[in-house]
Amino acid sequence: MRVLILTDSRRTGDDEHVPTTFELEGTLRDAGLRVTRPRLSVLAAVHEHPHADTDSIIGLARGGNGPVSHQAVYDVLRALTSAGLLRRIQPRGSVARYEARVGDNHHHVVCRSCGTIADVDCSVGSAPCLTAADDRGFTIDEAEVVYWGWCPDCSASSPPASTG
Ligand SMILES: [Zn+2]
Ligand SMILES: [Zn+2]
Repeated sequence: MRVLILTDSRRTGDDEHVPTTFELEGTLRDAGLRVTRPRLSVLAAVHEHPHADTDSIIGLARGGNGPVSHQAVYDVLRALTSAGLLRRIQPRGSVARYEARVGDNHHHVVCRSCGTIADVDCSVGSAPCLTAADDRGFTIDEAEVVYWGWCPDCSASSPPASTG
């Protein structure tokens, strides 16, 4: 059973497996978290709408499975992020976004015009950016790489001004 009915054609990650409620319950339990309806709703919303911001998640969690209060969504986002089930990203000039694709240190490309965000794998192999040329003695757990440019829609409608 799906928690949410998909209506948003702009969602990314169409090739990704969208977990069932049963799988999401397992995900919560494996992380040592109690299964609650707000947690399931928020987790499902972020799985289906990667890089959603808090306001969108509030709307999605409400539409999906009965009302979930703003405060509950904030609390759940914090709990799921600190449990490592969600990753929080915040590109420059953007509000915080959440995604369920965690643990691979993938990067993001952000459109300068409309703010659309897409996933970008590390350019070589699996998470090589976590292996710094010289780690200065730090234990590195995240490398934040943001590519900036123009998404296909925006470059088609208003190409970036030439600097030449
Ligand atoms: Zn754009
Ligand atoms: Zn991402």
